[in-house]
Amino acid sequence: MALLQISEPGQSTAPHRHNLACGIDLGTTNSLVASVMSGETKLLPDHNGDSILPSIVHCGEDGLSVGSKALTFTTSDPVNTISSIKRFMGISFNEAQAINNLPYDLVDQEGRVLFKTAMGELSPVELSARILSSLKKRAVDALGDELKGAVITVPAYFNDAQRQSTKDAAKLADINVLRLLNEPTAAAIAYGLESKEEGIHAVYDLGGGTFDISILSFNRGVFEVLSTGGDSSLGGDDFDNLIFEDCVKSLGLEDLTASQIQTIRQHSKSAKESLSGSESAEFTMGKQNYTITQSQFEALSEKLVKRTLQITKRALKDAEIDITDVKEVIMVGGSTRMNMIRERVGEVFGKPVLCSINPDEVVAKGAAIQANILAGNKSKDDVLLLDVLPLSLGLETMGGLVEKVIHRNTTIPIIRAQEFTTYKDGQTGMGIHVYQGERELTKDCRSLGRFELKGIPPMVAGRARILVEFQVDADGLLSVSAKEETSGVKSEIEIKPSFGLSDKDMEKMLKDSVVFAQEDILLRQLQEQRVDATRTIEAIDAALEADKSLLDEQMLATIMHARQSLSLLVESEDAALIKEATLKLENVSAKFVEMRMNKSIMSAMKGHRIDEFND
Ligand code: ADP
Ligand code: MG
Repeated sequence: MALLQISEPGQSTAPHRHNLACGIDLGTTNSLVASVMSGETKLLPDHNGDSILPSIVHCGEDGLSVGSKALTFTTSDPVNTISSIKRFMGISFNEAQAINNLPYDLVDQEGRVLFKTAMGELSPVELSARILSSLKKRAVDALGDELKGAVITVPAYFNDAQRQSTKDAAKLADINVLRLLNEPTAAAIAYGLESKEEGIHAVYDLGGGTFDISILSFNRGVFEVLSTGGDSSLGGDDFDNLIFEDCVKSLGLEDLTASQIQTIRQHSKSAKESLSGSESAEFTMGKQNYTITQSQFEALSEKLVKRTLQITKRALKDAEIDITDVKEVIMVGGSTRMNMIRERVGEVFGKPVLCSINPDEVVAKGAAIQANILAGNKSKDDVLLLDVLPLSLGLETMGGLVEKVIHRNTTIPIIRAQEFTTYKDGQTGMGIHVYQGERELTKDCRSLGRFELKGIPPMVAGRARILVEFQVDADGLLSVSAKEETSGVKSEIEIKPSFGLSDKDMEKMLKDSVVFAQEDILLRQLQEQRVDATRTIEAIDAALEADKSLLDEQMLATIMHARQSLSLLVESEDAALIKEATLKLENVSAKFVEMRMNKSIMSAMKGHRIDEFND
């Protein structure tokens, strides 16, 4: 089943040429790059053979380093060694300040956050770009310099500002982004779930500093994120910390220096990781020896594990999914290498979890598979995954109504255009107000942004042809443009549709649209009728002002009477009555309209010879 093939203009595949593309997992703790080569999905290592790149950038006095080199500066130069950059992407200075329990010097640049380093003030986007550059270099080294582009993964809960920042970082690193892909979706692709039956899957992702649970539904070629949950300060580091604290306590260590603390932390982390493969782990601190067994570690970890399970259950509840309806449970993130995690998650779901692909590599691999298809290397029988728009997008029309341009659940990317016209004679500007939501009235939807189309040449109401185009790209980013077709006047904006909109808000907006559907339709009819009535009154008023002299007293009185009764009814709640009165006014004015038309033709012809108007 081929759903869609994207090939960039001018990039169509020459026969027999392979387009090289890669998948990038840009993680909070670790990043990886993978590619499909000769039909096999492979991680691309650095020149030392390491495939995991720690997501750390050191901006020191004597230059920049990335990855494991940068990691060595953590203790000696903490202020200039920036880790967890992903947490700072697309957020404001104030938000950054709130999560900054790290030793960084943050700068407020008109609300945006910058890191003050020995190499100057750098934004999260710039720092992220350094990590991406380093990954790109691996890809170029391995694939040759013909890299067509990359699929970069982001957490499912990333909002548009965070997604846009990720794209900006890629641009800085000179990487052509084929698409941003949700991390859980990438994991599902790596396991080939899209080629199996449709259904619900859970993706449990426990990384270095974060925990994410996503409930996905796979339906008709589309992965949809039904709900997400998580804890942005619960991850592998917390498990390291349990061993650290246990070690300090049991060895009675006191007055530790920063460097000693760092050393114990590193030992604790290694001990934790080796416990995933052996019964016990040990290390020495000075002259003392510290040992911990798997069961001791499990007992220490109980609270953390329980917390992830609670969050998992809540996410299922949010998605209104019964735990028995979950088909596959995918393990993602280095911390799911811990046996106790696999076992406990398996117990909760009542089935063995999927963990045959390395959990720290699965996201990059899924991204690589998707990149390979997007680059145009696969036959048309391959499924290209699509995302869907979670909420409808539309415009405000007269009377506070929302005209939907793209409906919810439409697969993206998509472009849709709709034609609108002016409301008044001689109208030269038009406000375009973009809304998101399912309800009929603007007050029940969410405003995404507005802009003005100016410089419309003055025309009779209804004559101008304004084409409003909505374009949603594969990453869910919306841009709206408006163009007056007869004159070519154009105006546009880019909008971030889901910025700041939580899953809860989204769910409420969807539920409300169902609950209020009937009421909304009646309100819409009423509102439309009111707009129609007001427009008729305004047109009559304008005509009377210009050409009252054409009317005899009797005609004027009839029109005024009809106008009066309509204007009294406009605000009533009865759409049918308003409609009747509007038609009445139109009828009694028909003759007047005709007289005006004749008059204007006569005046247009004045001073011209009749034959000028022939043909
Ligand atoms: P992120 O997605 O947050 O960038 P990863 O998925 O790479 O991070 O996970 C990193 C975490 O995985 C670290 O806390 C690391 O200690 C942990 N980890 C890696 N290997 C193991 C292992 N064998 N046992 C337990 N934890 C591990
Ligand atoms: Mg990860």
